[in-house]
Amino acid sequence: MTYVANPARYDKMEYRRCGKSGIRLPEISLGLWHNFGGVDTYETYRSILHTAFDAGVTHFDLANNYGPPAGSAEENFGSVLKKDFLPYRDELIISSKAGYHMWPGPYGEWGSRKYLISSCDQSLKRMGLEYVDIFYSHRPDPDTPMEETMGALDSIVRSGKALYAGLSNYNPEQTKEALAILKDLGTPCLIHQPKYSMLVRDAEAGLMDVLGDNGVGCIPFSPLAQGLLTSKYLKGIPEGSRAALDHGFLQKEDLSDGLIAKIQKLNDLAEGRGQSLAQMAIAWLLKDQRVTTVLIGASRVSQLQNSLGALENKAFSADELAQIETILK
Ligand code: NDP
Repeated sequence: MTYVANPARYDKMEYRRCGKSGIRLPEISLGLWHNFGGVDTYETYRSILHTAFDAGVTHFDLANNYGPPAGSAEENFGSVLKKDFLPYRDELIISSKAGYHMWPGPYGEWGSRKYLISSCDQSLKRMGLEYVDIFYSHRPDPDTPMEETMGALDSIVRSGKALYAGLSNYNPEQTKEALAILKDLGTPCLIHQPKYSMLVRDAEAGLMDVLGDNGVGCIPFSPLAQGLLTSKYLKGIPEGSRAALDHGFLQKEDLSDGLIAKIQKLNDLAEGRGQSLAQMAIAWLLKDQRVTTVLIGASRVSQLQNSLGALENKAFSADELAQIETILK
């Protein structure tokens, strides 16, 4: 089957400016951490990618270690890209990252110049790309000078292997330091990728202000708390779900009775708004204009379609927001 992109793909999606940059990103972006690895099914993830792009999702987020096995999500994305998306390369924002363990020995993780530059080269080879649009430092390295890690991002951008630099998992203080160095180097940080959802609120303690004040975009990851913020775990752990899979990052122990009771109440509130809990959780993040795009995951096309439905109802009354806070307390 030859893939031809939906001619109406830009009709409905809204695009938000990424901080003070020239780039606009779709309100929903798709991440390939789970569901696109060597353990997953080609036709399923290929259809997910088509459905996303056909709906105006122009941004796909990867990292060196996504799989399993590590590297396989980039390889698999590369094969779909080669088969289907090459005519559309200039319509896509593709990101990758380095920071977590990727290969043995002292140069296969963290934040050295040696690791970041070699890893970026490997990612480009796996995806069959000449450049990625965004390259991230995936996590701060307490033992490498910030100047070295940021210098590596700057070199990657200057050498044309990436168009923009990003940070992920940096706390507010680390972010401020990194932003200042990148600015001095002449490669301003485009975007920051923190873990942020109704259930994980750390980003509200300073980070969002640092990003807003510095004109840096924000792309919250795991907005559904890996699937917890959906109705799927309300009646136990379904077969094949992330919590059930051996290679899934979500642990059965994360599902306490207290948490399920809260999720049930959130689910009731979402139903009252005429949307799914997944949709409410995504819309809830988008209420903050400093959030550029919400970075979701999906293991099947129907989930992606459901999550995209969040964009049909993004408004919250003050009462609804207060009810959410009461439930989460
Ligand atoms: P989510 O919180 O969106 O969780 C996705 C999972 O939730 C899916 O795999 C699926 O679980 C379930 N799900 C999704 N949509 C629905 C729906 N509509 N109804 C019911 N269930 C649904 O995001 P992820 O945790 O997958 O993270 C998203 C992306 O963020 C990653 O792919 C990656 O790009 C990025 N990320 C970045 C990190 C970093 O350190 N920078 C760390 C982690 C993620 P199931 O598989 O059970 O069906």
